[in-house]
Parts: sequence; C-alpha cells; structure tokens
Amino acid sequence: MKLKKILVWFRNDLRLHDNEILVEAIAKSDAILPVYFFDPRYFTQTSFDTVKTGFNRARFLLESILALRAQFQKLGGDLLLVVGKPEEQITDIVTKFDISEVYHHREVGPEETNISTLVEDVLWKQRINLKHFIGHTLYNKEDLPFPIKDIPDLFAQFKKKTERDAIVKECFESPTEITFIENEDWGVLPELAELGFDASEEISIGEDFHGGEEAGFLHMTNLLTANSEIYMKSNGKAAIDKFSAKLSAWLAIGCLSPRRVYWMIKDAEHQFGGNHNFSRILLGLLFRDYYRFMFKKHGIKFFQESELEMRIESPEKTHDHLMESWKKGETGHKLVDHYMTELVATGFINHAGRLLVATYLVHVLKIHWTNGAAYFEEKLIDYSAASNWGNWANLAGAGLDLKSKMFDIDKQIKALELDLPVVSA
Ligand SMILES: Cc1cc2nc3c(=O)[nH]c(=O)nc-3n(C[C@H](O)[C@H](O)[C@H](O)COP(=O)(O)OP(=O)(O)OC[C@H]3O[C@@H](n4cnc5c(N)ncnc54)[C@H](O)[C@@H]3O)c2cc1C
Repeated sequence: MKLKKILVWFRNDLRLHDNEILVEAIAKSDAILPVYFFDPRYFTQTSFDTVKTGFNRARFLLESILALRAQFQKLGGDLLLVVGKPEEQITDIVTKFDISEVYHHREVGPEETNISTLVEDVLWKQRINLKHFIGHTLYNKEDLPFPIKDIPDLFAQFKKKTERDAIVKECFESPTEITFIENEDWGVLPELAELGFDASEEISIGEDFHGGEEAGFLHMTNLLTANSEIYMKSNGKAAIDKFSAKLSAWLAIGCLSPRRVYWMIKDAEHQFGGNHNFSRILLGLLFRDYYRFMFKKHGIKFFQESELEMRIESPEKTHDHLMESWKKGETGHKLVDHYMTELVATGFINHAGRLLVATYLVHVLKIHWTNGAAYFEEKLIDYSAASNWGNWANLAGAGLDLKSKMFDIDKQIKALELDLPVVSA
C-alpha cells in the first residue's frame, strides 16, 4: 500500500510545542517532511528604499531555524532548507518525495496570503491539497463569540466581548516521536551574506534576543520568576512604569505560541498571584489577536485610504531629509532620537517608544505613515505584518479604530520624560 507522506511547510511557526500542523501531520501520515523556504522576496529592496528584512531580524530568523533543525535532529530527522520561492520549488519537492498533502498555517498579511495562493495553485495542478490551519492567535476563530465578519472594529468592544465570552484552548503537546521521510541532503543554512547582508556588519543584536523555541522559553521563565519575586517582595506594589516583557520577537516568528504564553502566565498567577505586568502581557496578546482578525476580516480594506496601493508602489519623496533625520535619530528631539537609535541598534523599542516616534513622524514631521511602517518593517526584530501596519494605520487615523486618533503627543512625551506609565493606543 502507498505510504501517506505529508510535507509540513514552516513559516512563522518555528516551534514544536502547540503546533497543530505538526501534530496533525504526524497523526495523519506515515512520514512527514518538514520544510522551510528562504523566500528571496523577504530579502529584497522596497519602493521605500528600505529592505524587507533587516540584519537583526535576519539573524534572529537564522538562529530560530537552526534551533528548530536541531530539535528535529534530536528526534532522528531534520528540517529541509530550501532557498527560493516556495511556489517555484515545491513542485519538484513533492514529486521527489512522493508527497500526498501539504500542511501550513494560514497568514493574514496580503503578501503572505498571496504566496499561499500561488503555492495552492501549483499544487492543485499536481492534484495535491494545501491544507490551511489557523494557529497564530490566542483565540481560535471558531472560539470567538462572533463570526469573523461581525468582529467589532473597535478594540475596546473586541476586548470586552472576547474576554467575557471566548475561551482559550489548551495547547497541543510537543511531539516526542516523529517518523521522517528518508532523505540524504537536507540543505544548508544560508550565510547572512547570501541573504544580501554585509558580512562585516557589526552584530548589534541585544543580549535579550536569541532565536529559537528554547531561548523563548528561557526568556519567558526568567520573566515570570523575576516578576513574581519582585511582586511578592513588594506586596504587589512594585513599580510597573518601565515594564516591557520583550516577548514579541519569539511570538512574531512563532518560536512561542500565544496560547502557551497565556497558560504560563495563568499558572504563574495561580502560584504567585496576579500582577499588573502579567495583565499587561495578556492585554498585549489581545491587541495582537485584534490586528490579525482585523486583517482577516477586512484585508486591505482595513486601511481607510483610497490611494494606499499607489502610495506603497511609489512613495512620496518630498520629505527625504526629514525622513533621514528621523531614521538616523537626528531630529533634535531628545526622546525621539533616543528611541530611533535604540531601534537601529537592537531591533526593539517598547510600545511607548513606538507610539512616540510614530506620532512624531506622522503628526509633527507630517510624513505619510507608510514610510514609517516600511522602515519599521526593516528594522524591527519582532516585525509582524498585521501588528506593524495595523498599529501604524490606527495611529495615523487611517485604520478602523478611530479612538487612536485621539493620541496626545505632548502627554506622551511628558509621561516618558517623567518616566510614568504611558497611555496605550
Ligand atoms: C507603530 C507601531 C508598530 C508596531 N509594530 C509591531 C510589530 O511589527 N510587531 C509586534 O509584535 N508588535 C508591534 N507593535 C506593538 C507593540 O509595540 C509590541 O508588540 C510591543 O512593544 C512588544 O513588546 P512586549 O513584548 O514587551 O509587549 P507586551 O506589552 O508585554 O505584550 C505582550 C505581547 O502582546 C503583543 N502586543 C502588545 N501590544 C501590542 C499591540 N499594540 N499590537 C499588537 N500586538 C501587541 C506582542 O506580541 C507582545 O509581545 C507596534 C506598535 C506600534 C505603535
């Protein structure tokens, strides 16, 4: 009898834990082939004179892939690494390995969904099904109290109803046994230089960020322990002003699942009691879901701008010198420059910093928000299409949550200068 072999296409789900496509593929097949494609589209120049993926995120990505590969190797297999566009490479792979079906997680960004469609089309010609899973959110769409088309456009309403009526599912266990497809050549991890980076570029990644599932768990465990101890010692009165969990890089690339983060926090709350920082992380996870579901519901129509596609294809260049000063952290505004320098150096700035520099670009320098979003896309170590473009659009008044238009830059700057808790959009 013909063996059933499933190709598991990894994208932003670089983990073994809570990974439905992996669990399902193992259950439904005789052998699996895990594959990661280094898609050149993610390493090209954009119309904004930025690159799609900057140095810090590229390094984090390579570390994460290497870590996933090592996990598969421990289980007696490997991760097939392929350089090229998935829709151009997958035909040969499915033929060579006699694949019956391909599993992948559905994304919500237009570029990512377009790539899925291209792959689906070429597979279809070979009579192979591309099965879509949804596994990037805290809440599964079927567990929400409304169908996607009725999800409230205002975050406050989405939060209220979801927290009241939706449930967070248990996580899928990490597989401990996998039967892999027999293969000799699993491919090599590309060097940064092969992805277009200057090999001599200084490694600027912050100590806090190392790619991979294990590194993500370590960060999470340290975070929970440190927070719980601080809170216990201070009888729950510890300062929360500067808190940033810095989890977003692992969440964005899927080294940590939002559900696992949620349940780890719930366990810590059970053990040590709740605190503001934990609540803040849970609120962040809701924001993350909100933007993904908004993209799912509206697609490009989330942006209330008729000329958006034209602006992205040929951005206005009239403010080039101001844009450059913002990028380099040379605006003359102390706090803006501080955050922009930090962004370039580490790939990360906290939410308050993002709100400040974005507001400054849009409302003070009067530069169109898409320029800032493209620059963040290059620089952020935690770049995620829905979170980045969604936050930028809302902040600029081009998204669907009109409340964000009320953002007050003076209040924000004052709060940051005084080191007080800041408002969140
Ligand atoms: C202009 C702008 C661009 C942004 N671009 C991105 C991006 O590309 N990727 C990204 O993950 N976040 C983005 N954010 C959201 C937010 O600033 C970061 O998620 C957060 O700073 C990460 O730090 P943390 O892990 O300490 O967050 P915490 O406050 O601890 O929150 C926990 C998690 O929730 C999620 N989260 C928190 N706030 C938000 C939010 N407002 N929107 C979406 N998700 C949120 C993140 O995954 C985060 O790791 C952006 C915000 C702004 C204002």
